[in-house]
Amino acid sequence: MKIGVLAVQGNFREHAAMLRRLGADPVEVRKPEQLQGLDGLVIPGGESTTFMRLMRLYGLEEAVRRFERPILGTCAGLIVLDREHLGLLDVDVERNAYGRQVASFEADLDLVGEDEPLRGVFIRAPRVERVGGDVEVLAELDGEPVLLRQGRFLVATFHPELTDDTRVHELFLDSVREASLVGTQ
Ligand code: GLN
Repeated sequence: MKIGVLAVQGNFREHAAMLRRLGADPVEVRKPEQLQGLDGLVIPGGESTTFMRLMRLYGLEEAVRRFERPILGTCAGLIVLDREHLGLLDVDVERNAYGRQVASFEADLDLVGEDEPLRGVFIRAPRVERVGGDVEVLAELDGEPVLLRQGRFLVATFHPELTDDTRVHELFLDSVREASLVGTQ
């Protein structure tokens, strides 16, 4: 499976390492034409304002909007996909929503269908304030969604690439595999 990792800024190396560990073939994406032939795409954490600026500069904004395969977005990657930015995801998000004192923290999360909690690393994380009807919540923190799925989009407000737990990436690769079987190119 060839999985693109948007590499204009942020934690793309950590995502690539995790994908490689799971047997996928990560490809760093900096140009629109590099999206061709990919089975899926990861938009990592970083700084969403920088992401948007660089994506526009490289012509990636339109290209990502047109990309039809599964996408994993983490932290800033989620923000990039939301209604206010690329408009691919029916969620409203507040950026840097946890205040100064607790800007970064870790928490155990209940993951749907799993007994073992998932360790969430939150770094100046966004808060999901509203989700559309098609959005499925896979994990919550204090009653608020932190891992969500809407069709081919899997998004997290935390950083699954910064722990040893590979389950979020496995979920994503499962959806990539399913999409390839259905052949929805
Ligand atoms: N605070 C960042 C933003 O608003 C997101 C933080 C992150 O990706 N770790 O884009």
